[in-house]
Amino acid sequence: MRHEELKSAGGKGKELWRRMISESIEDPFDLPASLCAGQDELERVTSLFPMRINPYYLALIQNKGDPIYRQCVPDLKELNDEGLDDPLLEEGHSPVPGLTHRYPDRVLFLVSNRCAVYCRFCNRRRKVGRPGVVSNETIREGLSYIRGHKEIRDVLLSGGDPFLLEDEELGRILSEIRSISHVEVVRIGTRVPCTLPHRVTKDLARILKKFNPLYIHTHFNHPRELTRATVRACGRLADAGIPLGCQTVLLKGINDDPYIIRELMQGLLKIRVRPYYLFQADLAKGTSHFWTPLQTGLDIMRFLQGHTSGMCLPHFAVDLPGGGGKVPFLPEYIVEKRDNDIVLKTYEGKTYSYPLNVCMERRLE
Ligand SMILES: *Cc1c(COP(=O)(O)O)cnc(C)c1O
Repeated sequence: MRHEELKSAGGKGKELWRRMISESIEDPFDLPASLCAGQDELERVTSLFPMRINPYYLALIQNKGDPIYRQCVPDLKELNDEGLDDPLLEEGHSPVPGLTHRYPDRVLFLVSNRCAVYCRFCNRRRKVGRPGVVSNETIREGLSYIRGHKEIRDVLLSGGDPFLLEDEELGRILSEIRSISHVEVVRIGTRVPCTLPHRVTKDLARILKKFNPLYIHTHFNHPRELTRATVRACGRLADAGIPLGCQTVLLKGINDDPYIIRELMQGLLKIRVRPYYLFQADLAKGTSHFWTPLQTGLDIMRFLQGHTSGMCLPHFAVDLPGGGGKVPFLPEYIVEKRDNDIVLKTYEGKTYSYPLNVCMERRLE
């Protein structure tokens, strides 16, 4: 079914997103001829890493090889094995299956193994779309781990995509978490506002509203993903009092360009989404054709800082292979360190000195 038809079928409301999921392309042979050749070969890729492109996201593709296409259509380059199975060593910090406790006060909790689109650069591609990875049993164990660890004050639900759960199931998990008194903040990581905005129904927003403080980290990578449907979805969540952040991934040939990132960040603020992270792509297996040099991210951050609103600035970070966690990177603004001052370069490239120990001197006066 074409996207236009789906739009006109909008009156059926609640069922639309489920229909879009069921009408997704999951086999290279079902791709429109104009978008694909060599389906036989691509089946080798999809036997390793599943494919799913729902009709909404498919309709955003304008040309073969464009930034939307490259995020979702399998590529033979994925068969090249340079990356790692578990780049962030999540299993190594996993006290119970499906939960990663790497930082002192917060955990990552996988509650769904399905997504509205399977991104070709996914860092959890070893898990998503496979049966058995997340089950009632792993969710029960995860909840019980959180209940038993009083230091956990922040729970980040992820997956897969938590918004692929039915409303009732998501609501049940959220109320279980809310019933744990030491959990202060709940976050949901979801690409659905970008990849299947129709899933953000009034009912979903009404359910989520009950669980504040609840934060949503969504994930847009290109300005072309900002559509009328995403404006509506993000507006609905924001109207429910849910602060929205965005975790963008730097991807070669898709968004590794200062002008594209600036347009995306400014566009996100217009739809009430605050840029949160700009990630260096993780070193996941079969994704090396998306990797960018570290300098690309630094150059983009330098291009943004001062030239556009601070609200547009994400934290540029690398999630270290081997499970070290996220490390922020900033361009260098200190030109020289001297005994009593430092020399700083501004966004315009001018240099200024700033005294060290400025507070101490004031106190001595
Ligand atoms: C990214 C991540 C978090 C959340 O990190 P924040 O910097 O607080 O957003 C928590 N746990 C794990 C394992 C993560 O990878």
